[in-house]
Amino acid sequence: DPRTLDATAPAAPRLDAAWLDAHWMPFTGNRDFKARPRMIVAGEGAYYTDTDGRKVFDGLSGLWCSGLGHGRQDIAQAIGRAALQLDYAPAFQFGHPASFELANRIVALMPEGLRHVFFTSSGSEAADTSLKMARAYWRTRGQGGKTRLIGREKGYHGVNFGGVSVGGMVGNRKAFGQGIEADHLPHTQPPAGTFQRGMPQGGGAALADRLLDLIALHDASTIAAVIVEPFSGSAGVVIPPVGYLQRLREICTQHGILLIFDEVITGFGRAGGWTGAEVFGVTPDILNFAKQVTNGAQPLGGCVVTAEIHDTFMAAGGPQYMLEFPHGYTYSAHPVACAAGNAVLQVLQQDDMPARVRALAPAFERMVHGLRGARHVADIRNFGLAAGFTLESLPEEPARRPYEVAMKCWDKGFYVRYGGDTIQLAPPFISTEAELERLVSALGDVLQETA
Ligand code: PLP
Repeated sequence: DPRTLDATAPAAPRLDAAWLDAHWMPFTGNRDFKARPRMIVAGEGAYYTDTDGRKVFDGLSGLWCSGLGHGRQDIAQAIGRAALQLDYAPAFQFGHPASFELANRIVALMPEGLRHVFFTSSGSEAADTSLKMARAYWRTRGQGGKTRLIGREKGYHGVNFGGVSVGGMVGNRKAFGQGIEADHLPHTQPPAGTFQRGMPQGGGAALADRLLDLIALHDASTIAAVIVEPFSGSAGVVIPPVGYLQRLREICTQHGILLIFDEVITGFGRAGGWTGAEVFGVTPDILNFAKQVTNGAQPLGGCVVTAEIHDTFMAAGGPQYMLEFPHGYTYSAHPVACAAGNAVLQVLQQDDMPARVRALAPAFERMVHGLRGARHVADIRNFGLAAGFTLESLPEEPARRPYEVAMKCWDKGFYVRYGGDTIQLAPPFISTEAELERLVSALGDVLQETA
């Protein structure tokens, strides 16, 4: 009985369809879930507990966000204290100390040059904020024609209209009609069967040079920004080839195009540094974050920008009482979320979690590539504490086998994510090597058992 975990926990949850139907769940096969609910009632360390009282290893850190694991007293207490002291303060025209503290903490962890934080409550809001910021920046500089946005195939920038327009996950777009005009660079995923460990060595500059084709087509005078994930998670962990991000940076600088990194997954440890920018040695003009900034314990995201971008808005702001950027959310820099962020960044720093990720990464790489040759495995990719497996597709049903594999893993006590024709792993930073071994070996067993 899950109530034995905590006397204050609510009564055992109802699992009948009549009850479950009221909640239309996001990115979920609702009919499947409600026929076979997978209800999580508690989390502690690297494990979830389900309604049967089973412990399930969290092989994706929630949704790439809970690297410190679950149920941490220090984070929960910071959230509780903040909610009691100041549950909400107006986000517009008034402030509260926690957001300024968090902005300073974040800036201190960014590569040189990224100086100012604009807060949102999610990664999707960070994506749309960064795209609007890029357009408004050029307009403020008298170049209002620079509105075109360029993303990348297989890119994921959340689900709002800007994000899906620059995004390149086909399934997320086609149901929704006209978005914002956007172009897409080719993705950087090597052909199946490459089994690349870490970064692909060749072809990086040539792939980035495809941006020159888009510039030739449209002219840089019409292009506001290029947005990419340093490495993409949701598409199945796609790693940039050596030199790729450097060349994108060079081209953007030469042609006066802003470079936006969407670090919603790569930020705050997962890549083995504070940011993908740091790890790959390339600094964007705008860096988006979310997820790990609060360890997932509160919704929070944002964009960190250069002094040049920030100061351009301030200088063009008109009389001092005027707004410089007419944009923001009721929950931008929510005080309770900021308190979570401050507590989480303190722990990530104290325990030097990026160093722990770097230390675990070689063993994790060896383990996941140990599944080369396993049944159905067409390709494996990895970086830091993230790995993606492409599975050979069943005819007409590329997503079916990954779904079945993920559900069987859950039944065996391991939560992994499936998406498209891939299985994705992003275990907590606090995992032990033995836990990582068990996760990967369970996945291997399930692949063997799956038709
Ligand atoms: N950007 C990237 C790179 C992501 O991985 C995600 C979520 O997975 C998002 C944006 C969207 O974030 P959210 O779901 O918080 O809106």
